[in-house]
Amino acid sequence: MQDRMIEEALARSDLEVSQEVLRLTRLFIEHLKNVNEKTNLTAITDDESIGTRHLQDSWILYRYIPEQASVIDIGSGAGFPGLALKIVRPDLDITLLDSVKKKVDFLRSALNLLAFDRACAIQGRAEELGRDPAYRDHFDVAVARAVTALPALLELSLPLVRPGGLFIAMKGQDDEISESERVLGLLKGKLKDVVRYQLPDTDQPRSLVIIQKLERTPSRYPRRMAVIKKNPL
Ligand code: SAM
Repeated sequence: MQDRMIEEALARSDLEVSQEVLRLTRLFIEHLKNVNEKTNLTAITDDESIGTRHLQDSWILYRYIPEQASVIDIGSGAGFPGLALKIVRPDLDITLLDSVKKKVDFLRSALNLLAFDRACAIQGRAEELGRDPAYRDHFDVAVARAVTALPALLELSLPLVRPGGLFIAMKGQDDEISESERVLGLLKGKLKDVVRYQLPDTDQPRSLVIIQKLERTPSRYPRRMAVIKKNPL
């Protein structure tokens, strides 16, 4: 990937361009493109779109996450936003979660290549991790982009956040907040902020829906995926 595209994405995100960030981003994107030729990880493959729709859209998060936070990226796919975020926020302790083995294999190979401290990839389902005492009520921050509609996403994600921590959902034009108010109450979350933005080459508004978790998750949540789908909260 051309340095110019990376530099533009950094500048538009108000991030400093450093040789280390350029090197790590180049390594990550070249590895992604190589693996993507054999294994379908992302439909976005040209440098211009990778710069805006993947890198810049991931980097928007950097200012909303506290120093040294433990962060889980739910449904990380090819590493967006979690792995891209770790490049510009090496202080974060990042866990990349995806249910699909080939995606987690790729994420692990990318993490090895970039030789990060405090970063790992887990193969699993968010709703199952949310029942595991090692991960339940655990992370300072959970983030998710393009995983599912907000009411169901809250049930997958909030159980993984510690009381007082944040869940940041990256949504499109419809932020789905009005359908989620009751769910937020059931899951002990509170809407903290909604940040609206637009990427340069798209005409669609996007939003960060920032939720604060107030208390531990009630024991009946998260339910199994079949139940979440059949009987949404
Ligand atoms: N976040 C990435 C992005 O924005 O480019 C990937 C988005 S992709 C549309 C959704 C990803 O979420 C897929 O990789 C899928 O395997 C994963 N996923 C869906 N449901 C999940 C669940 N319950 N637990 C963990 N991963 C899940």
